[in-house]
Amino acid sequence: MFMETIRNPRIMKETSKRLLMQGRSIGLVPTMGALHSGHLFLVKEAVAENDIAVVSIFVNPTQFGPNEDFSKYPRDLEGDMEKLAAAGAHIVFAPDAGSMYPEGFSSSVEVKGLSDKLCGRFRPGHFKGVATVVNKLFNMVMPTRAYFGQKDFQQIRVIERMILDLNMGVELIRCPIIREQDGMALSSRNRYLSDGDRASAPIIYRTLCSAAEMIRSGTAADAVADFMNRTLGSEPAVREIQYAGVYDPQTLDEKKGSSGASLLAVAVIVGNTRLIDNMLVEV
Ligand code: AMP
Repeated sequence: MFMETIRNPRIMKETSKRLLMQGRSIGLVPTMGALHSGHLFLVKEAVAENDIAVVSIFVNPTQFGPNEDFSKYPRDLEGDMEKLAAAGAHIVFAPDAGSMYPEGFSSSVEVKGLSDKLCGRFRPGHFKGVATVVNKLFNMVMPTRAYFGQKDFQQIRVIERMILDLNMGVELIRCPIIREQDGMALSSRNRYLSDGDRASAPIIYRTLCSAAEMIRSGTAADAVADFMNRTLGSEPAVREIQYAGVYDPQTLDEKKGSSGASLLAVAVIVGNTRLIDNMLVEV
């Protein structure tokens, strides 16, 4: 099937309006490109559940901090297009930064509270950049459903809150974390890792699995968090633990006891690369 590429936000919106007028549902998968099987899982879900699947590719400058990897973030539009055509996407929306943030751009969306915890403590302004660009994408694509990966659990919670608070009427679909054979969560940033660091990094997944077992067998959250920090801390490749612990999946606050669902979440620096991962344990 023919896959259309749209670069202009105005044309994207006109196209979406026409599709909605025709009674077609639209599924949106927002990405920053450098696509891997994790992204493609989301795309396949969007294709299966909607008449039209739109995949946006935009490396959003406003969600990167001044010392982060915006300029070296991997970009491979041609390779991405091939993968998206094979996955059955209908429209690739790839705007440039100038059309997303024209001269004089001055608005933003801030989801207070949820944005300030976990990753927000180490990446100030990140979730404001994310919420703003996702809001813009929603306004341009007007999706019936939007697909996000649980790999970025906090991002999902921030967007869910935004949808609710601002009466956005988009259905957010949570998709599972796609992993390598050794448990490593797929990420566009994994390519930054040296071979040695890549070989050590599955300690993150193994720690999450053991911690999940402890939660299931009734161990208190603080003891599980302690175990996670000790295990990750004993791996020399882990240069820094930004956070590792057990959190309430709704509020993202640290959990104390062992009742209710638990989000096990980790952010570490391996080599020069910041890696995040998590596991949801429902009881
Ligand atoms: P990104 O391009 O990193 O902004 O990611 C775009 C979307 O893909 C986000 O909703 C991510 O959560 C999702 N995603 C990234 N990695 C994975 C993965 N390993 N499994 C599932 N979804 C993922």
